[in-house]
Amino acid sequence: MADIIHLLPDNIANQIAAGEVIQRPASAVKELLENSADAGATQIRLFLTDAGKALIQVIDNGKGMSETDARMAFERHATSKIKSIDDLFRIKTMGFRGEALASIAAVAQVEIKTRRADDELGTYIEIENSQVIKQELCACNEGTSISMKNLFFNVPARRNFLKSNAAEMRHIVEEFIRVAMAFPGIFFSMTNNGQEVFHLEAGSLKQRIVQILGTPYNARLVSVNEETDYMNIYGFVGKPETARKTRGDQYFFVNSRFIKSAYLNHAVNSAFDEMIAKDSFPSYVLYIDLDPSQVDINVHPTKQEIKFEDEKIIYAFVQAAVKHALAQFSIAPSLDFTLNAEIQGLDAVSKPFTTDKKDAATSSNLFKTFTQKNQAHFIEGDDKNELKHWKDFFIPQPPRPGGTGSEGGVEMQPTRNAEQLQTTNYKLQTLHVLPDTTLLQLHNTYIIASTSSGFILVHQQLAHERILYERYGIAAHGQQMPTQRSLFPVTLELAGADAVLLTDLLPDLLSIGYHVEPFGSNSFVIQGIPADVQPGNEKNSIELLIEQFKHFSSDIKFSKREKLVRCMARQQAIKAGQSLTQKEMLVLVEELFTCGSPNVTPTGSPTYLEFKEDYLDRMFGR
Ligand code: ADP
Ligand code: MG
Repeated sequence: MADIIHLLPDNIANQIAAGEVIQRPASAVKELLENSADAGATQIRLFLTDAGKALIQVIDNGKGMSETDARMAFERHATSKIKSIDDLFRIKTMGFRGEALASIAAVAQVEIKTRRADDELGTYIEIENSQVIKQELCACNEGTSISMKNLFFNVPARRNFLKSNAAEMRHIVEEFIRVAMAFPGIFFSMTNNGQEVFHLEAGSLKQRIVQILGTPYNARLVSVNEETDYMNIYGFVGKPETARKTRGDQYFFVNSRFIKSAYLNHAVNSAFDEMIAKDSFPSYVLYIDLDPSQVDINVHPTKQEIKFEDEKIIYAFVQAAVKHALAQFSIAPSLDFTLNAEIQGLDAVSKPFTTDKKDAATSSNLFKTFTQKNQAHFIEGDDKNELKHWKDFFIPQPPRPGGTGSEGGVEMQPTRNAEQLQTTNYKLQTLHVLPDTTLLQLHNTYIIASTSSGFILVHQQLAHERILYERYGIAAHGQQMPTQRSLFPVTLELAGADAVLLTDLLPDLLSIGYHVEPFGSNSFVIQGIPADVQPGNEKNSIELLIEQFKHFSSDIKFSKREKLVRCMARQQAIKAGQSLTQKEMLVLVEELFTCGSPNVTPTGSPTYLEFKEDYLDRMFGR
């Protein structure tokens, strides 16, 4: 029998590896932008055709490559950025794995033009399927231009997997913003199908953030700035009043690298403490710079997750720095410690950072002050489990379990899966509220209504959410909701990324009664709102919608319409705490029971509980 194991040809190996690094146009954009930043460019221009599906081109004025380097760059594990494993802990560049260009060359048709300042002529190379098909000298600008056409042209399964242009565009904008925020000193532009979407002049950090997040942010930022020998933290947090009900603009950069860290996010939230409502999220753009040896960035192929040598200290510093910033701007009430001097005095901050010193630091009084204050249960503890522990606590709990259960006698059948409900018939639908019953509102939240067989306790907000969900759902699938034209149309200025998102949503918004029209670059006019929405709040509700939608957008389970309908239903529902008239309560309860699935919200929380007479009798021993 013949042996059966053989080595994969390079192009196939590269294609497989590309799966990790290049998942969609946005990942290629990220890699190319980062390469340009690594090459010391001061100007980086991104050109796209069809949201990057047809073309992604990045032109920079960085240091360029020699002819040999330009060719080498597309080999797997070809990098100029590290030489030995030790270098991994000294990394100051974005890249180091030497995989990006090889991966890109495996899944797209690539052309590169590059020239170093001292070379008279540059190099032009064309690559397809990891094979160089043309190479020649060329006259070109100093720097590098890489264009990749027809991403996944040779991997149809992946090409088909790509989303709509609007959706891919959102991912690109997200990556673009992250790189642009990390390098405010670099000029960035982004053009899609000939239209410039971003034009970001080089400037200060604050200018960059405001350019990206939108001008209203200017007055809403509090600057954070703590320098220690161990690490520097700087950037901005939004004032407490800008906290949103949905996770909005939250960015962490560690040594210029955008990272996701639920743990550090918690550190910021906890610094806001009592200043913002429990269920709202502060915005922040925070930069942490520290010795690269204190972080492991090689734990994830796209490097969005990193590991800190000492997570607890970073947590404490972040929390303290944000508290300090809020206090300085007299936003926080008084604080019980003065931070700067004491942080400086911490043994932990003096280099070199030995185990001894770390121990001393974690046992110091200051460390205890900020660890114990509210967070003792999160960051104390003797092993590395705190992250998991913390996540358990923080990740939203699933909807309440099945009420109090049938043992308790409360009859209801909440279901987790709202989609499933559409097709299920519920016996509860036959429930009738007695015609001339007087309704009673409790705590401005619950409505009690007698039924033919007992009584029901309706949660007004959750019930209304169900009603609106079905109403908007019908509208979104054909029958457009009536719009009332605004007498004084309101204009809306949005940040670039939000404008892209809103443009994408316009037709669906119209179907549920929001008539919004584009009005020049990144501006919109609200021409009309649903007939049953109080005028005056339209701007807020569109802004809130965008926020929620962004938060939702990673959720691939739902279609765009479904997300929109869910967001709007939640947003427009009357809230708990609002006092209702007899008439309003009656309409609410009646409408609830004309719903297809009256007994749960779209996310599966019960909308009402039913108490049957026989159960009540039993409870009273009758
Ligand atoms: P990595 O960035 O991890 O080193 P890449 O595959 O992204 O790997 O790039 C390979 C090499 O090609 C880089 O190390 C760098 O030397 C060179 N290179 C890539 N893009 C550029 C650019 N825009 N300008 C100059 N050199 C570049
Ligand atoms: Mg790279």
